[in-house]
Amino acid sequence: MDPSESPSSILQSAKSQFLNLLGDNEKGITDKTLGTLMESIDIAVRAQVINDCLAAGKIELLKQGKQLIYKLKVDSRQAFDNDEENVVYTIIEEAGNRGIWMREIRTKSKLPITQLSKVLKTMENKKMIKSVKSISAYKKKVYMLYNLEPCTSVTGGTWYSNNDFESEFVEILNQQCYKYLVKKFETSRQLSSPIERKNASYCKSSEICDYIRKLGISKVNLSEEDIEEILETLVYDGKVEKTCINDSNSPEDGTTKIYRAINPSLTMTSLMRMPCGVCPVASDCHIDGFISPIKCIYFNDYFEF
Ligand code: SF4
Repeated sequence: MDPSESPSSILQSAKSQFLNLLGDNEKGITDKTLGTLMESIDIAVRAQVINDCLAAGKIELLKQGKQLIYKLKVDSRQAFDNDEENVVYTIIEEAGNRGIWMREIRTKSKLPITQLSKVLKTMENKKMIKSVKSISAYKKKVYMLYNLEPCTSVTGGTWYSNNDFESEFVEILNQQCYKYLVKKFETSRQLSSPIERKNASYCKSSEICDYIRKLGISKVNLSEEDIEEILETLVYDGKVEKTCINDSNSPEDGTTKIYRAINPSLTMTSLMRMPCGVCPVASDCHIDGFISPIKCIYFNDYFEF
């Protein structure tokens, strides 16, 4: 930075540099990357540049996981070929990252289906919008703005891939989390004081998350929240105990969840394992019906157990 430069010209050149960087990175730049790329610019000037650009509506601020992303706003409205595109774009924009069904767009826009299909196709080709398969309805798509990341109610989150629930992946994580907690529990048995033993058997989700990351069994970057979801299933299975402790470093409500393996207080009785008690089609199940205990794999497994 030239010391003879005036504050306004420093700000102006920093702004140009910032906008050029965003222009070169269509998907946006994380806060961390920006700090590296604009290292030579004073942090206060950087903050001023970001605030000015946000206020002028030149950029948008997105959140991906725990990261902030700065992205150049594309004035898509200039690219409209006709009023229909404008109307459809506004409807889709209002739906945000939850997206909107074609039927809803049709009701709101009052466009005939053939015309609407054509408009949607054109806008998809122009990369103004995109269609995303939703896990809530098989074979149905929702439309959203091209630059939006679909929310987890659409994608299903970490545990879904191409609309399929990754049951094997979840099972492996479930086993590994439990294994870690059991090991911790067994190591804690070596301590003589009962209080120390109990405290040493607990661990935070962040600790288990680090362990899972080091194992390298996941292709996706699992967050602590993802691991907490897995731990929650172990709590419901009666294998793990969860408790909250005061933690001044916690970014949330000043508390942190900790977990430890336990010996289940109840062993599964034969009646508890019976599948018919929770079967959603039990009322349609008859000995000579289409759904019957004779053909039922769950019922047969139960008797083979
Ligand atoms: S036999 Fe199978 S299908 Fe019938 S009620 Fe039991 S679990 Fe459901």
